[in-house]
Amino acid sequence: MHPDQLHHFIRQVVAGMGSTEREAELVADQLIGANLAGHDSHGIGMLPSYVEGWSNHKLKINGAPTTVIDRGPIVVLDGNHGFGQVMAYAAAETAIERARAHGVAVVGLRNSYHIGRIGHWAEQIAAAGLVSIHFVNVSGHEPLVAPYGGALARLGTNPFCVAIPGRDGRPAALLDMATSKIAFGKARVAYNRGESVPADCLLDRDGRVTTDPTGMFGPTATGGALIAFGEHKGSGLALMCELLGAALIGGLVMSPESAGIGAIVNNMLTIALDPQALGGGSTLIDEANAFLDYMRSSALREGFDEILIPGEPEQRARMVRAAAIDVDATTLGQLRDAAAAVGVSDAVFWAD
Ligand code: NAD
Repeated sequence: MHPDQLHHFIRQVVAGMGSTEREAELVADQLIGANLAGHDSHGIGMLPSYVEGWSNHKLKINGAPTTVIDRGPIVVLDGNHGFGQVMAYAAAETAIERARAHGVAVVGLRNSYHIGRIGHWAEQIAAAGLVSIHFVNVSGHEPLVAPYGGALARLGTNPFCVAIPGRDGRPAALLDMATSKIAFGKARVAYNRGESVPADCLLDRDGRVTTDPTGMFGPTATGGALIAFGEHKGSGLALMCELLGAALIGGLVMSPESAGIGAIVNNMLTIALDPQALGGGSTLIDEANAFLDYMRSSALREGFDEILIPGEPEQRARMVRAAAIDVDATTLGQLRDAAAAVGVSDAVFWAD
């Protein structure tokens, strides 16, 4: 389907929940942006979970962030369980404003509903010529990721993200990753498509490695856990996302109590840096580009046919997907149900 059709559909469904035009636009921009970047796990397929959050009053419509701490370069915002697309947008704008004024900004965002693809917010900051680093935790529902050596989930998929600004407003490099081997949404997409997940990404409920996602989804779900990337190192980074992304800024860490909330709660620590303030302003982009070329100049390892820079897979996906985004039949069915729940006809799928 054409991205514009899907964007229109999302705006209609979000407006059906009572959102303002601006809120609906921000949600649609980010979800479709994720699909275009190749991350269907964080794209339009998230919409049914937002409708569910609205219907069980866990997602607050037309919320605004409140400022909890405001000390020059340090700001902490509370998202009040409103749309993450509104809250993270505000956090990124605050980070840009404060980093321009002070050279650095440290912005905490607590208690937001799902903030989706973190790279979207890093791109917003990189477009302003700033570096950003993001530590994020996911709480409010059952943990999904087992710690290194563990059989049971204790962590969220806690994403970590860093972006270096480039010359044309797009990042020169953008590392944006879940700290689980695969994002939970990727297991959901595999389940919806009737596919297996890659090897060594998932544990069944007894802590045995499996490629079958059906244990985690649908009517026959029995439980299980995602495996953290990079063995003990990835598990350690996921822990730091929990402690820096939530505990440090007064956000909710994962616990049996917070899991009981039954909603998606994201907390994010954003550190924005102005390269000018650190003496690298005029050279950062040249240095970065020269170093990226040096990386690419390495001989290839056996079994590989190229060296990619973080952020390149997403740029490539955008080129392929600009004309059409493929939505699988299961996701389409879920979207139709979600639309019906807010009183929107699925005819808007086909509208201009
Ligand atoms: P991924 O594994 O597809 O990519 C991770 C990073 O590696 C990206 O920066 C990508 O550009 C880079 N990359 C991919 N292939 C590469 C290659 N061959 N060579 C060099 N670099 C390469 O991403 P993921 O871990 O599945 O995460 C997907 C998305 O999920 C992210 O956007 C993340 O922010 C989001 N997420 C959000 C939440 C939340 O709670 N809001 C939780 C988890 C993940």
